[in-house]
Amino acid sequence: MEMIVLIKQVPEIGEAKIDPETGTLNRKGIPLTMNPIDYNAIELALQIKEERGGKVRVISMGPQSAEKALREALALGCDEAFLLTGQEFAASDTYATAYALTRLVDFLKPWDIIITGEKAIDGDTGQVGPAVASFLNIPILTYAIRCQLIDQSHFLIERTIESGVQRITLSSPFLITVTKGMNIPRFPTLRGKITARQKEIKKFNAQSLGISEDSIGLSGSPTRVVKVENFKIERKGKILKDMDPTVMADQLVQFLIERGAW
Ligand SMILES: Cc1cc2nc3c(=O)[nH]c(=O)nc-3n(C[C@H](O)[C@H](O)[C@H](O)COP(=O)(O)OP(=O)(O)OC[C@H]3O[C@@H](n4cnc5c(N)ncnc54)[C@H](O)[C@@H]3O)c2cc1C
Repeated sequence: MEMIVLIKQVPEIGEAKIDPETGTLNRKGIPLTMNPIDYNAIELALQIKEERGGKVRVISMGPQSAEKALREALALGCDEAFLLTGQEFAASDTYATAYALTRLVDFLKPWDIIITGEKAIDGDTGQVGPAVASFLNIPILTYAIRCQLIDQSHFLIERTIESGVQRITLSSPFLITVTKGMNIPRFPTLRGKITARQKEIKKFNAQSLGISEDSIGLSGSPTRVVKVENFKIERKGKILKDMDPTVMADQLVQFLIERGAW
């Protein structure tokens, strides 16, 4: 079974701040990590590999620093890692990101399954997986909570939907986006870490994949972020003291009524 896992490097949760001037995410000096759900995506691929054999390849599109996330994936047991990187990709929206990733995925044919996280903790759109499947014109199952091999090429997949859990059987090729509860990701072993250090991370840019610069970066991105607002929640309280408790209670009720809370 040939699998490709898409992983994204994101700012560490709690460390990322919105720049109040520009309204954009300030990434400078923020420690970076692999998107948490992408560990679940890798775990699924490794479990399938353990059961059926095959190869797990990981891909990330991002700056050179994304190598760290890819090396971590190799330490966990992934076989090969690929980085799609270059200035020409900067400012890509989800459409352009998915398009560029698709071109690399297509280049790496043949494969059976593409696995992505349900969403990234920074962009948080959940669009990249479905967009890649759409560009590749293959079936997609989102929000998977279970994925079990039932024969040589068929899988039973359970996914959460509004009214409960949907069970679907399908055969490869397909793309699946996984949720956090699907499995418990493993930790890298010391041996895995040593092996990962020796492996090559293969790098691609737009030119090496024949991607036109019009289809990536700002010019290939139909999304325009017009404004990002940072909401400040202020709680203007009212302090009542040294009063008769009945009057105090009346005033509190009045205070709540005035604010529509009663
Ligand atoms: C106008 C605009 C400009 C932007 N410019 C930038 C920019 O310069 N730099 C930047 O970092 N972001 C930028 N973004 C955000 C960027 O588009 C998204 O972070 C990126 O497309 C992924 O979307 P997401 O984070 O919502 O991922 P989601 O769709 O929520 O991610 C779901 C899953 O898709 C996979 N995935 C997502 N992104 C990648 C990736 N890059 N490589 C491999 N797998 C991936 C992972 O498996 C992930 O779990 C921009 C967005 C807009 C709208």
